[in-house]
Amino acid sequence: AGRGPGGERVAVVGAGLAGCLLAVLLGRRGVPVTVYERRPDPRVAGAERGRSINLAVSARGLAALEQVGLRDHALKRALPMHGRMVHPLGAAPNFQPYSADGERAINSISRAELNRSLLDAAEATPGVTLRFSQRVTGVDAREGVLLLEGADGGTVTEPADVVLAGDGAYSAVRTSLGLDVDADFLEHGYKELTVPARNGDFALDPDALHIWPRGTSMMIALPNLDRSFTCTLFWPKPDFDALDTPERVAAHFAEHYPDVAGLMPDLAADYARNPVGSLVTVRCWPWARYGDGALAALVGDAAHAIVPFFGQGANCAFEDCIEIDRCLDEAGGHWPRALSLYQERRKANTDAIAEMALDNFVEMRDRVSSPVYRARQAATHALERRLAGRYVSRYELVSFSTVPYAEIPARIRRQNRILGAAALTGAAALALAARALRPALRRRGGR
Ligand code: FAD
Repeated sequence: AGRGPGGERVAVVGAGLAGCLLAVLLGRRGVPVTVYERRPDPRVAGAERGRSINLAVSARGLAALEQVGLRDHALKRALPMHGRMVHPLGAAPNFQPYSADGERAINSISRAELNRSLLDAAEATPGVTLRFSQRVTGVDAREGVLLLEGADGGTVTEPADVVLAGDGAYSAVRTSLGLDVDADFLEHGYKELTVPARNGDFALDPDALHIWPRGTSMMIALPNLDRSFTCTLFWPKPDFDALDTPERVAAHFAEHYPDVAGLMPDLAADYARNPVGSLVTVRCWPWARYGDGALAALVGDAAHAIVPFFGQGANCAFEDCIEIDRCLDEAGGHWPRALSLYQERRKANTDAIAEMALDNFVEMRDRVSSPVYRARQAATHALERRLAGRYVSRYELVSFSTVPYAEIPARIRRQNRILGAAALTGAAALALAARALRPALRRRGGR
């Protein structure tokens, strides 16, 4: 591993989204770092299958990418989605803008391309060394070594004083450190399908994240630059197995997703070929372990994998990296102090987004199709326009701001309490509510 200014050897495990960004940030601080990635270089070998093909990246992810000069580059290769297009069964699709002014958008970005840009940035950063096809099996914090799988299947060691584990939801480093972990699997799994371009153009509106809410399950679709859409089914796992012939697949889609079934010429083959992935919420504490020989900490999904229903996993992982960088500044480069600060600051935030992401599953698969929900959304947006900056929706705070996640639930409860009281007494009280909200928001820095 590379040696930092204090002589420490720093290793990052995993050259995924978090690992790469962290390596760039550390390299820029003058901390040499070696990144160990289990896969071959995806820029040479091509992207791995079975991961989500595209990601929704929003304000938090963009703010982090901006720190390493990649924001504009990422946006140039992104497709903005200004709202949800909800496809109810037996009714016309309806568009629900994400923001009150209809201007704000989340961005559909290819995961593989984003990872490649981050790998390029890491490689171009002085002090960063990338090592591919290196499967880390654990850390011996007492001895100060990283354990890797050798070519003959045995274990080889590499000295490391600081290990930052960005090795994903099923982190081998986390397991080897014996941290207290709770992995909570949804009974739903996911499978990806494709709606290809039709006559050279998008077959669905590319300015939206499409949702087919079906009560206990749903399908979503995000646009790709090649004018295709990647659809993701989120179904209870046994439901996937029930469709075990091409005829059953075709009949199921014709019945439940009639407006899109005809846009998927390879539906049955894709369905049979593509794997069913699991959806897990990882709750772990602490995130850092201090041995006599090495200090190890988790970052990104390794520390706090969340379900994808708020499109925040990667955004949140990027925020972790920025926080580590900030904590190193504040701790004057002292690793134990910095990592302790980092985990203390991030934990409440990642717990909060984990809960909001679970809650958003019910919203997406069920609530969005109800007329009551749509009326409430319209009212929320009207309020946001009327009480600009003082009444802000949860979606807006999560996706279009960098307000710490942990502050959002309490802020929404407070807003709703005040507005609930206002609703009872009419428009005059609304004005009072606006006044009441003002000092509360000012106390919180006016965000
Ligand atoms: P990963 O991206 O998982 O990277 C881990 C890296 O470590 C990989 O390169 C892996 O090969 C490597 N590795 C693993 N084990 C080892 C080992 N033993 N040794 C060495 N290297 C190892 N997030 C969003 O923000 N927006 C979205 O729209 C969104 N959609 C999603 C849709 C789905 C279906 C899923 C499953 C997730 C989605 N996410 C989304 C979440 C997002 O994918 C993750 O939060 C993000 O990838 C986390 O980044 P990471 O770097 O922590 O982990």
